[in-house]
Amino acid sequence: MVQITMPLNFLGTVYREIRQGLVDMEAMFDLLHQPAEILDAPNAPELQVAGGAVVLKEVEFHYDPARPILKGVDIVVPAGRSLAIVGPSGSGKSTIGRLLFRFYEVTGGSLQIDGQDIRDVTQNSLHAAIGVVPQDTVLFNDTIRYNIGYGRDGASYEEIVKAAQKARIHDFIIGLPDGYETQVGERGLKLSGGEKQRVGIARTLLKDPPILLLDEATSALDTQTERDILDALKAAGEGRTVITIAHRLSTVADADEIVVLEQGQVVERGTHEGLLNAHGKYAAMWAAQAEDRDEAAA
Ligand code: ATP
Repeated sequence: MVQITMPLNFLGTVYREIRQGLVDMEAMFDLLHQPAEILDAPNAPELQVAGGAVVLKEVEFHYDPARPILKGVDIVVPAGRSLAIVGPSGSGKSTIGRLLFRFYEVTGGSLQIDGQDIRDVTQNSLHAAIGVVPQDTVLFNDTIRYNIGYGRDGASYEEIVKAAQKARIHDFIIGLPDGYETQVGERGLKLSGGEKQRVGIARTLLKDPPILLLDEATSALDTQTERDILDALKAAGEGRTVITIAHRLSTVADADEIVVLEQGQVVERGTHEGLLNAHGKYAAMWAAQAEDRDEAAA
C-alpha cells in the first residue's frame, strides 16, 4: 500500500507545485531530486543564445490525448521585446511557460529560441537561458543571503546586495536584526508573498538570463507592495526578452505585444491601445476588470 501511495503523493506534490504557477524549475528538481523525464538528444549541443528571440510555431499540446490544451499557437517574441499572455483561467497560459522550459514536450509544432528547436539542445543550456520569477518563490531553510545568492554560484556579497537593491528588497532586509544573515524558510522568518517574490526577482537578476518568464501573482497585494514589485520587475526586464503570464491585466499594458488565449488558441493580438480600439475580447476583459477596480475602490 505504502509503495503505491508514495509515488502518487509525490506526483500530487509536483502537480500542485505546477498548478501554483510556474515552478522555479532548478529549485524544484534540487528539492525533490526528481530526474527530468525528458532526455537530451544524444550529443545535443548547447543552446547558442544570440538575443533570446522566442518563436512558437503551430504549437499543439495535450496532457491527456482526449483533451487538447494548445491548438496551433503561433507566437513570435523578437529579442529584447516583451510579450504578455492573457486569457481566462484554464486557457493554457501557464502551459506555454512549462513548454518553453521543456518540462513537457510539444505534441505538435515547435518552439524555438534564436532559431534553434529547444528539443535539439541540452536542457541545462536551455534552463540557463531562461529566468523564472514564479508566483511562489521556493525559499530554502537558510539565510536571505543564501536564498538570493542561489541565483548564481559564486556571486559576491556586493553582487547579492546590488541584486536586492534592484529588486526593491534591500531596505527590508537591512531592517531585519540579522540583515542578510537572517534565517528564512519554514524554520526561519516567514516572508510575505510580496517579499518572497522580490527575493525571487533578486535571485533571477543575479542569474542574469537573456529570457525572463514572469508568472504574475494572482494574490491580492496592497498598492505599495504591488508598485514595488512592478518596479522590481521592470528593472529585471531591462535588456531582456520578457514573457509575462498574466492572470490579471493591470500589468500588461506596457507589453510590446499582448496575445489573448482562449481555449488553447490565440483569439486576439496587438498592443494595449490597439486591442482597446478593437473593442473585442481584450477590451471587454479590461472593462470588466476596471469595473472590479472601481467597485473595490468604492
Ligand atoms: P490560470 O490563469 O487559472 O492559471 P492557465 O491559463 O494558466 O490558467 P493552464 O495552467 O495552462 O491554464 O492549464 C490549462 C489546462 O490544462 C487546464 O484545464 C488545466 O486543468 C490543465 N492542466 C494543467 N496542468 C495539468 C496537468 N499536469 N495534467 C493535466 N491537466 C493539466
